[in-house]
Amino acid sequence: MPDTVMLGLRIRHFRTQAGLTLDQVSERIGLAPSQLSLMENGKREPRLSVLSGLAGAFGIAVADLLDDSPPTERAALELDLHRAQGNSAYRELGLPTIKATRGMNDETLRAIVGVHRELDRRARLAIATPEEARRANTKMRWWLRGQNNYLPDIEALADEATVAVGHSAGALTHRTVAEMATRVGLSVIHVDDLPHSARSVLDLENGRIYIPPASIPGGHGLRSLALQAIAHLALGHAAPDSYSDFLRQRLEASYYAAACLMPRRASVDFLQHAKDERAIAIEDFRDAFGVTHEAAALRFTNLATEHLGIRLHCLRVSGDGAVVRAYENDGLPLPLDATGSTEGEIVCRYWSARQALGRTTRTTEHYQYTDTPQGTFFESTQTGRGTNEDFAITLGVPYRESKWFRGRESPHRVSSRCPDLNCCRRPDDGLSRRWAGQAWASARVHTHIFSPLPHGTYPGVDDRELYEFLEAHAGDDGQV
Ligand SMILES: [Zn+2]
Repeated sequence: MPDTVMLGLRIRHFRTQAGLTLDQVSERIGLAPSQLSLMENGKREPRLSVLSGLAGAFGIAVADLLDDSPPTERAALELDLHRAQGNSAYRELGLPTIKATRGMNDETLRAIVGVHRELDRRARLAIATPEEARRANTKMRWWLRGQNNYLPDIEALADEATVAVGHSAGALTHRTVAEMATRVGLSVIHVDDLPHSARSVLDLENGRIYIPPASIPGGHGLRSLALQAIAHLALGHAAPDSYSDFLRQRLEASYYAAACLMPRRASVDFLQHAKDERAIAIEDFRDAFGVTHEAAALRFTNLATEHLGIRLHCLRVSGDGAVVRAYENDGLPLPLDATGSTEGEIVCRYWSARQALGRTTRTTEHYQYTDTPQGTFFESTQTGRGTNEDFAITLGVPYRESKWFRGRESPHRVSSRCPDLNCCRRPDDGLSRRWAGQAWASARVHTHIFSPLPHGTYPGVDDRELYEFLEAHAGDDGQV
């Protein structure tokens, strides 16, 4: 049985189609016109005998009346308006509900329904508060850890797609990416007027992927963008209905893109060979497939545990020491906030990432052994400069696995006691006595959505660093 509103719309539709007035129909089936009007407005449910009387009067079957779809586009709009005014987001506004009368033209109705749809879309987006975003992100990190960051279904789909175009080793060319797009009915189009907020746009109706001009630097980024757009089709993604759904889709799309750029078989062969030679190095893996250092490091985390039996961690740390992205299944004690989230938290100043960021010469990869309360790790870090700030990509493994990696002869060894505050956060007593109450600092503004929680006396500023800075400059004569 369709709902009474839908049924009413269908009754009115078939009545007007038959060219009958309310009075004429009432007379034929022996029912007061006011009753019939209530039914057409969805306020009263007709008995079955009335339904068959109506069907007979309109010259149609009862089943036509009971069909559960709006009979016309106009009726669909009326139904949307009715439903939108009934939802709690609209009722909260305390505004009157209006009826789509015959006097209201289609354009007006379409405009009102359009506003309702947008209101609903915004209400759904607003559900993703930063707090919930952090929780969803944390949940996903734990799920990935349980998977060893390996998604076999997506690997299989990417295998299929790359085999079909004959890509195995080496760099995936733009031309091959275009061929992969064609296979799923899409063409790649470079434009220089994308919306500011979009990295790429997928036009499903016309089968197009719009990405920035091919001439901009960072060709790998463009191939990856196009592949991510292809992924949404290949993986059957629909519009996400929640923030965690959105996160999962984005993760799956970038996983698919990475698995196409660095196909499983060829990558595992390459890495297994490097392991046999005891010379695994992310920079070699990166160069062999023509991708960025970060893309190679992330792809390594997909394959290392499952195919090489190596547990590991991989971090992207920004210039100010905050975690941008982190993955570990080797027990590295990541800095966590009260909700278990690590994004935006500051990593230990002795860890490889911050040691590498602190170097004045950053031309080579930085290698070090890091002692932590959870054991010793071998870490290699490469630093780079993004559009706005410096960043460091660290790949690390437990000490016993260091034998497979280049750089293992590094003499650099540091000791970290974090999360113990005495490791590198809490100022020593002398400094505290000297400077407490005598300083004020303003934190750098973080544009990242997962902005860090306060660490010291001044939100976002590390007390110890602040005091040490003050101490170091205390002797200056004030001329800067
Ligand atoms: Zn520390």
